Amino acid sequence: MPRTVTTFCRICLGGCRVKVTVSDDGRVERIGPDKENPYSWRDFCAKGRSAADLVEPPRRILKPMKRVGESYVEASCTDAATDIGRRLRHGGPTWRSRWASRCSAPRV
Ligand code: SF4
Repeated sequence: MPRTVTTFCRICLGGCRVKVTVSDDGRVERIGPDKENPYSWRDFCAKGRSAADLVEPPRRILKPMKRVGESYVEASCTDAATDIGRRLRHGGPTWRSRWASRCSAPRV
C-alpha cells in the first residue's frame, strides 16, 4: 500500500516542504506541496514537481558508456577506468592541460 512521507525538496536552497507518495517497492508515485507548511508558501515550483524525474529519468545512464566512432557502447567499469587512465597518461599535454584547468582552483 502506498505511503506518503513529508520531506523537503533538495533541488535548490529554498528547501520547500513536500509530500511524497511512495509505492511498496520504493518508487516515487507523486510529489505534492505540503499544504500545512507556511514557510514554503504551502506550494512548490515546477522543478520540485518534476523532481521524481531526477530519480528515474527514462534516459538515465546506468552503466559506463564508451564512445566508439560516432556512437556509444556499454563498457565495464574496469574497461572505462583503464581507458581513461591510458588516455590521461598518453594523451599528451592537451589532455593534461584540459584536466588540470578543470580540476584546479582559480589562482588569485
Ligand atoms: S520546490 Fe522549487 S523552489 Fe522549492 S526547493 Fe524545490 S526547486 Fe527550490
